[in-house]
Amino acid sequence: MDPLKALADAERKPYWLDTPARPEPLPRLFGHTNADLVVVGGGFSGLWTALMAKERDPGQDVVLLEGRRIGWAASGRNGGFCMATLTHGLPNGLERWPDEIARLEHLGVENLDEIEETLTRYGIDCAFERTGELNVATEPWQLEGLNEHLDIIGELGLDYVPMDRDQVRAELDSPTYLGGLWDRKGCAMLDPARLAWGLREACLRLGVRVYERSPVRSLHDDGVTLSLRTPHGVAAGRRVALGTGVFPPLLRRLRHFVVPVYDYALMTEPLTASQLGAIGWGNRQGVGDSGNRFHYYRLTADNRILWGGYDAVYYNGGLVKPEYDQRDETFATLARHFFTTFPQLDGVRFTHRWGGVIDTCSRFSAFYGQAHGGRLAYAAGYTGMGVGATRFGANVMLDLLSGERTPRTELRMVKEKPVPFPPEPVRSGVIQFTRWSIAQADRHEGRRNLWLRALDRMGLGFDS
Ligand SMILES: Cc1cc2nc3c(=O)[nH]c(=O)nc-3n(C[C@H](O)[C@H](O)[C@H](O)COP(=O)(O)OP(=O)(O)OC[C@H]3O[C@@H](n4cnc5c(N)ncnc54)[C@H](O)[C@@H]3O)c2cc1C
Repeated sequence: MDPLKALADAERKPYWLDTPARPEPLPRLFGHTNADLVVVGGGFSGLWTALMAKERDPGQDVVLLEGRRIGWAASGRNGGFCMATLTHGLPNGLERWPDEIARLEHLGVENLDEIEETLTRYGIDCAFERTGELNVATEPWQLEGLNEHLDIIGELGLDYVPMDRDQVRAELDSPTYLGGLWDRKGCAMLDPARLAWGLREACLRLGVRVYERSPVRSLHDDGVTLSLRTPHGVAAGRRVALGTGVFPPLLRRLRHFVVPVYDYALMTEPLTASQLGAIGWGNRQGVGDSGNRFHYYRLTADNRILWGGYDAVYYNGGLVKPEYDQRDETFATLARHFFTTFPQLDGVRFTHRWGGVIDTCSRFSAFYGQAHGGRLAYAAGYTGMGVGATRFGANVMLDLLSGERTPRTELRMVKEKPVPFPPEPVRSGVIQFTRWSIAQADRHEGRRNLWLRALDRMGLGFDS
């Protein structure tokens, strides 16, 4: 079937949010309220921060302000790969913090274990399946990259299984595969919207006051409290945590570090038993291919395939706009690549197509900090890998606000900031040239041009 025909009836909305299970919005903030802690943002960052603040000290009064609906943004429309890595993958972590990597990997696995425990504790049903992630090579040059760190993986005690072409095709059968590496424990698949709504419910149960449709327009510091003004009210907090992702920040300095990059995904109809049988996938891993521009894909609980990635689009000017959530050119590319990867699935149709915005920073993994004399903390820059890592970031924010030194606050990763992006219009020029160079590298056996090599040397980059 023509890939475009397979797309013809796909709804233009995020699959995960398109369900009657989506809870009714909670009330807006009206009037003035005081709290010990005000959390801004109702994505995973804000939700985990509010929940764990209450777990740490049930007596404190916690308010969460969400500008629209809980989980409507990246947190409710992502691929649902809940990864252990805190560093956007082992290679990036090794490159930047080689001396800390064992600690970072350990903390990442601990974080994922604790996510799993939390889901059980609060009875959050988000179709969590700890099936791991299978990285596949589809070009000979990618094989080398896959196997580059096997000795270190062994030393770190991580459970990775290298696979040749036949072994990987026995897991999941695509004629494009040349080899693979299965990280068996470091990743779980989940339904991200149901996770966000489950965390909302858990917050409410612990007494967090959650206000939706309450965008914070300004922040005022009177020296003792930080007052956050919404259209109909004010929340005054002794402490404030910002989990506002890529949206215009309440702290000006964050503008230098984060740029909005759009990522797109498709969802198929549920596969029949014979379609599933034609590709295998008995172990239901999340899958990523190994180009610089990569696809990620996975099964849902009802055996649809979510298929996303490849294009990472920066719109000149760096704005976040609802119309950017749809990009037909990218959807067509994704659909074509889907059928190239799985010719056995000819005839399968897509039911949903959508995009979302990612808070990209130049080191690809979140950064953390404080302002207003330590009374405000922030975490941002998850660069497309925040489903699991936002919980770690939430813990860092709470550590910083408490003033305590913890194993997290002592990390170089936590203390250092990424290199800032230049201001517009230079920013757009630099990013578009970098995107072009990355596409060229994929076309030429991974060979990086002078520009990418210079960025590599400076520890800078651009990714989704
Ligand atoms: C298409 C796509 C696929 C992805 N796939 C994966 C994946 O498979 N695995 C993975 O690990 N990561 C993935 N990511 C990234 C992941 O979704 C994010 O890293 C994570 O959700 C970030 O959570 P967050 O809470 O920081 O941000 P968000 O989810 O963006 O939440 C921020 C919230 O803050 C609110 N807000 C902002 N400003 C204000 C204000 N002034 N007042 C009140 N509220 C405000 C917003 O309304 C929003 O709800 C993907 C992202 C996208 C877009």
